[in-house]
Amino acid sequence: MSTEDTLAQIAKEVSVCTNCALHESRKKSVPGEGPADAEIMFIGEGPGFHENEQGRPFVGAAGKFLDQLLAQAGVTRADVWIGNVVKCRPPENRDPLPDELSACDEYLERQIEAINPSIIVTLGRFSMGKFMTGAKISQVHGQMQKIDGRYVIAMYHPAAALHQAALKPDILADFAKLPELLNKARAGLGKSAPVKKINEPQEADPKQLSLF
Ligand code: URA
Ligand code: SF4
Repeated sequence: MSTEDTLAQIAKEVSVCTNCALHESRKKSVPGEGPADAEIMFIGEGPGFHENEQGRPFVGAAGKFLDQLLAQAGVTRADVWIGNVVKCRPPENRDPLPDELSACDEYLERQIEAINPSIIVTLGRFSMGKFMTGAKISQVHGQMQKIDGRYVIAMYHPAAALHQAALKPDILADFAKLPELLNKARAGLGKSAPVKKINEPQEADPKQLSLF
């Protein structure tokens, strides 16, 4: 099965999943989206109001801010994969419960396995907690760590930075470091930067072919 097919299969299973109570109140599940060969995977918390309506991740206010942060890193949504630790909206946007996180984890595990990204960026404490048990986000944000053979960087959740102005400089600086960290992760994994596809518009200066 191709990676695209695997991801589509997971999305199909998620759309009819009843493995935790969150299925009862969901309108649309949000499996996550992005290219199957994404080098960077962003993992947030769970769908909010707008995501539940549209079935797409980060389409509300936090999503608008995430778009700005991605621009800070020289990338767009089309370059990265974006998903969440729970695929169905917790009622009233409450925190996901431990049994919901563990019920939903199999889907995320399969998505990570299929995409095999060079870097996983966790957004907020719930996705950080999946990789770094007991870590304090104020201490570890923006630092790349190799965990179980994968490079992981914890970052503040865009919604937290929207509501707490004091976090904004940190989240902006962390995103700005992503190109450099991606190069480090590639080197550590023995991967090279992807070759630009021939059907994409070529830029005049070969040095600008890749923003990373
Ligand atoms: N917040 C999240 O954590 N995920 C979304 O998809 C939207 C908002
Ligand atoms: Fe299934 Fe995850 Fe939705 Fe719970 S949140 S019903 S485990 S897809």
